[in-house]
Amino acid sequence: MKSHRLRSTPIPGTRDEYTGVDFNLGFHVHHYHLDMDYKVGPNRVDATATLTLTNWRDLNHLTLDLMDNLSVRRVQASGAITVAKFRQSGGKLRVTFAAPIPVDSEFQLSIRYAGNPGTRRTPWGALGWEELTNGSLVANQPNGAPTWFPCDDTPDEKATYSFNVNVDKGFTAVTNFTSQPMATYLATVQVGEYTRRQLGPDTFAWLPAGVNPGDLDKQQEMIDFFSEVFGPYPFERYEVVVTEDPLEIPLEAQGMAVFGRNHLAGNERLIAHELAHQWFGNSLGIAQWDDIWLNEGFACYAEWLWADHNGVPIDQSVREHYDRLTPQTFLLGNPGPRDMFDDRVYKRGAITLHALRRLLGDTAFFAALRDYTARNAHGIVEPFDWANALKAQASDPEAVDATLDAWLNYPQLPECP
Ligand SMILES: [Zn+2]
Repeated sequence: MKSHRLRSTPIPGTRDEYTGVDFNLGFHVHHYHLDMDYKVGPNRVDATATLTLTNWRDLNHLTLDLMDNLSVRRVQASGAITVAKFRQSGGKLRVTFAAPIPVDSEFQLSIRYAGNPGTRRTPWGALGWEELTNGSLVANQPNGAPTWFPCDDTPDEKATYSFNVNVDKGFTAVTNFTSQPMATYLATVQVGEYTRRQLGPDTFAWLPAGVNPGDLDKQQEMIDFFSEVFGPYPFERYEVVVTEDPLEIPLEAQGMAVFGRNHLAGNERLIAHELAHQWFGNSLGIAQWDDIWLNEGFACYAEWLWADHNGVPIDQSVREHYDRLTPQTFLLGNPGPRDMFDDRVYKRGAITLHALRRLLGDTAFFAALRDYTARNAHGIVEPFDWANALKAQASDPEAVDATLDAWLNYPQLPECP
């Protein structure tokens, strides 16, 4: 198995190898409160972000991620802490304090900023806050959150959130509603002329005028099915936003997903995929982007489980996708930034799960899956957490390690399970 970075003992200057962004060190953000006014026409944000932090070492200064085009007007700290100065450059907001903040202090930073939010260019395309024909959307993954709020933008730094977003009359700002901690990349604000429609006891859709839910009608049945297979649905409810503009791909957010109106017919696969991320990716967050298969492999396997539930045998889905897997030069367990969203990561990840299911048998495999989601709910997972859940159920625990090793740590494709 590969070695893991230990976030508890980071080395100053350590950089996220996937996003190329330097880590912000010395503190943990517990809560983000975003007070935001957004004008749709000029695409203008005027906002105050209030962050509640604790520091795990003395702090003379700290950095946060925020794109330079959002201009910071004022930074204030709570209590006796005085902000001496702040400056922005290279996507970082650096705040210097008048005197060092002693280790283990809890304090608040209030950051007033304004500007025209927009996407940032990344190797994965334009990410972040994006204007629509009639409103805006947010697509953060993996590093778009600083296009609209100051944050510690790394997937393992979960915090709770509250939002107060005011938009022009006639528009609605749909934000995450959950009280559970979440990663920055899953925070979202979707602005449009939306009306909320209840689709089932636990599921809602925000729809533009004249748009029908289409296949979203199946969501409640999917929640019920996945709750049996994976364990209880992890959030208070599930809300889906449908944009009037067509979208290339749907997006997951915590407790939510965003689809284009073009996704509502003939795309049950995608609807199942985004819903499955509520367990895998959102409740069970990844510690580092290296482990993206823990999100995408599971969400892809969920697509096949849903298809199987509807009459397409899972062995058929596995075989079809196995045969289409072209030679790989990357490792599933650490595919590298260029390939992190490559379809082969999704499909090989899903087939890895099938290989483990064949090894353990259905009863033990699904017991391990439910144990994994229960034990790690609203936390952070690494591959060894999944391996441990499997080994607790397996008659041959060493075979679990060998199977994971073959699928994760070598480019060669093992036999089709
Ligand atoms: Zn996905």
